[in-house]
Amino acid sequence: MYDVIIIGAGPAGVTAGLYTKRANLKVLIIYKEPSGLEKADRIENYYGFENGISGEELYKTGIQQAKNLNIEIKREEVTNIQIEEDKVYKVITENETYHTKTVIFATGNKRNTPKIKGIKEFEGRGVSYCAVCDGFFYKNKDIAVLGNGNYAIAETNELIHIANHITILTDGEKAPEIRADNVSIDTRKIREVRGSNKIEEIDFEDNSKMKTDGIFVALGVAGSSEFAKKLGIITNKDKIVVNENMETNVPGVYACGDCTGGLLQISKSVYEGTKAGLQAIKYLKKDNEKV
Ligand SMILES: Cc1cc2nc3c(=O)[nH]c(=O)nc-3n(C[C@H](O)[C@H](O)[C@H](O)COP(=O)(O)OP(=O)(O)OC[C@H]3O[C@@H](n4cnc5c(N)ncnc54)[C@H](O)[C@@H]3O)c2cc1C
Repeated sequence: MYDVIIIGAGPAGVTAGLYTKRANLKVLIIYKEPSGLEKADRIENYYGFENGISGEELYKTGIQQAKNLNIEIKREEVTNIQIEEDKVYKVITENETYHTKTVIFATGNKRNTPKIKGIKEFEGRGVSYCAVCDGFFYKNKDIAVLGNGNYAIAETNELIHIANHITILTDGEKAPEIRADNVSIDTRKIREVRGSNKIEEIDFEDNSKMKTDGIFVALGVAGSSEFAKKLGIITNKDKIVVNENMETNVPGVYACGDCTGGLLQISKSVYEGTKAGLQAIKYLKKDNEKV
């Protein structure tokens, strides 16, 4: 059982890791890819570097700093998070399931809304972003999952025992590996999704069509808004809503950095990572005092 699991290894996640680890907590940082920071050619607006620093160097130094403190770091994709029991969270990756008392989201600024005509219009009317939350509404229906990565497979697995049939729509991308009697894969490029009150049909670029009762969007890597929905965390558009202490509305769950919106800058990520870390420490200390 971890005290703290941090999702994301950018400046927000690593900073939260430094504070929580130095408070003697059992900390795990899980990340899928290097921070977006790695792509920054030159950072010249962050304190302490007289000639600036490359984003890659700053990112790698941060990771090394965390490793030097013996923070456990794993490179895995988080595909699901669940509340296991009172005050314990289950963080599920493509390889493992981890248990933790607190979760800190430091997942960065990523949008997973596809640019397919009609998707936005039918959100909540047949277009869903969360299999655990909405799967039940599609009992014995024919539905589609949009995506082709680990996250799409995880969402499909949530739906396999609920839906009649699931078509994984890759929208022209490579087919994922998944085998189940009621799952098929369709690699056609999508032109638009259509319907009247709710979604009814998918039109493809080659002028063919497919009837559907619903679409679950699971593109790329699950981001903060997808996780938030699974845990009942309040969001504003695709950003996690936090108070001044980086607390979400769910006890023991925090968010920091670009995933909370506002200024998308390193300095703000470091500040919020600090706050989230300190708040998690406070929460765990209070919990221990009650025992
Ligand atoms: C090209 C470029 C130039 C920039 N220049 C500057 C600049 O000059 N000055 C400045 O202050 N800022 C700059 N920025 C912005 C800065 O990089 C960000 O504000 C900062 O990196 C945000 O930190 P973060 O920790 O919130 O998120 P990120 O650094 O984006 O890290 C997010 C982490 O979450 C992980 N993650 C997300 N989802 C999952 C999942 N499902 N499973 C596992 N891991 C997951 C990612 O793999 C990543 O490790 C620039 C950004 C870019 C892209």
